[in-house]
Amino acid sequence: MLSSITKKYPFSIARSYLQQPINRYVSVKDIVFGEDDEIDEVELAAKRLGNSLITCKKVKGKYVSPWAKETNKKLWDVLKLAVHKKKPRLSFPNVKDSIDLIKILEVNRRKLRNDSETHFTWFGHASCYLQTEGVYIMTDPLWSDRASPMDFAGPKRYINPVIELEDLKIDIVLLSHTHYDHLDLASAKRIGNRAHWVVPLGVKALLESVGIHNCTELDWWNTYHHMTPAGTIMKIIFTPAKHWTSRTLFDRNTCLWGGFAVLGSKIKFYFAGDTAYCGTTFNLIGDNFGPFDLAAIPIGAYSPRWFMKDVHCNPEEAVKIHKDIKSKKSFGIHWATFPLTDEDPIEPSLELARARNLHNLTHEEFFTMAHGETLHMNELPGHDVATVNADLYIHYLNLLRTTPRDD
Ligand SMILES: [Zn+2]
Ligand SMILES: [Zn+2]
Repeated sequence: MLSSITKKYPFSIARSYLQQPINRYVSVKDIVFGEDDEIDEVELAAKRLGNSLITCKKVKGKYVSPWAKETNKKLWDVLKLAVHKKKPRLSFPNVKDSIDLIKILEVNRRKLRNDSETHFTWFGHASCYLQTEGVYIMTDPLWSDRASPMDFAGPKRYINPVIELEDLKIDIVLLSHTHYDHLDLASAKRIGNRAHWVVPLGVKALLESVGIHNCTELDWWNTYHHMTPAGTIMKIIFTPAKHWTSRTLFDRNTCLWGGFAVLGSKIKFYFAGDTAYCGTTFNLIGDNFGPFDLAAIPIGAYSPRWFMKDVHCNPEEAVKIHKDIKSKKSFGIHWATFPLTDEDPIEPSLELARARNLHNLTHEEFFTMAHGETLHMNELPGHDVATVNADLYIHYLNLLRTTPRDD
């Protein structure tokens, strides 16, 4: 058994597989651990880039990534972050004015239920909704009032959900990690077993606590195969991210975290989850699974940089990710939904506009959406903040000239 696995899955793949605890939740039929040629290809591509395959080791019950030294923050830094609250560069008189810029008046229910044409929707933060080939995919569903373990304290949402979860058809949920702004057990319970949950290693036990058993756990580079109504196979690959996770003081990195590449026969979609910038990883993802037709990339929760740069990318790094993964069209997520970090809620969209100008991208290639906005693949973005509010963008650029950027 051991030698056949080692032969079939050479190098670190075999090693990491053997190091994993016997996973009682995942059957080989479901998970399809490493079709050899697929994982070999990723490994070969890594070598071409001068690297070995990026893997996460499990040491004493915790996942240790290649970036652990940077992502494991010292207590002193955490305390410093708590004390040094900076004023955002851009300050609206009140948050409501800022948030009004990305409010959609009404969701397009007809469009949301249309099976015939690929469409995508942003429901705020990291909750994205994609329909392609008759398969409805939801990422990191968060419908609760707060991104918090408590319903009376913690970051409270700026905008109420624009539609009820029960009104959405959901076949697959892709869960990036267990931070409270990504795994909301109350929302998970509302979706339950009507969707198949594709989650990082270690998350299934959490879902079981709310009665969800329809679930597949994946390690980095593992593939989940989903059969579409037309009988084609959609591949969903769990990809590495420079991040970490925890829900309590005692469970740091006991679950894995990452993003997903969805390879369908109509489009290729990439959902980055939460991540700092790490060029090697994104080049590898782009080389192997790109070019992507569509990508959801985080642009918010980046300030202050001295702390956040190791766990969250900023808009300029999001643009680099867009390029590394060879995305044709990307939209910014992880902003303007919960007060998580120091920047003004609307700043990421303006900073994205600045970054794409620097990198010669148009707003049709990387844009922001309104909460609940649905677009077909060939539709132009209608609510990109900097495009729709040109005066505000100019005001922001003027502020940058007088405000130091080293936050
Ligand atoms: Zn996170
Ligand atoms: Zn997050």
